[in-house]
Amino acid sequence: MEKVCPICNALDEVNQACPRCGQAMKDGGTLQNYLGPYSPYMDGDWIPLNMIDYGCTHLVYCPHCHYDIRVVWNFVII
Ligand SMILES: [Zn+2]
Ligand SMILES: [Zn+2]
Repeated sequence: MEKVCPICNALDEVNQACPRCGQAMKDGGTLQNYLGPYSPYMDGDWIPLNMIDYGCTHLVYCPHCHYDIRVVWNFVII
């Protein structure tokens, strides 16, 4: 048994409508991908590292109006 993120492992898909324009939003990858010395996501309300234990945080973006949100997916056991 293993705990995995359903989005990272293509077991589930993003099913989120953009709150701004209503278009389907897309997975922009895990937020860990955006960590870096110049990342704008290092500022402000960055998630504490211990949250990584129970979920996988993804950036979900709207390709239509470029709105983006962070969504935490709970790990699933496979
Ligand atoms: Zn993930
Ligand atoms: Zn949008």
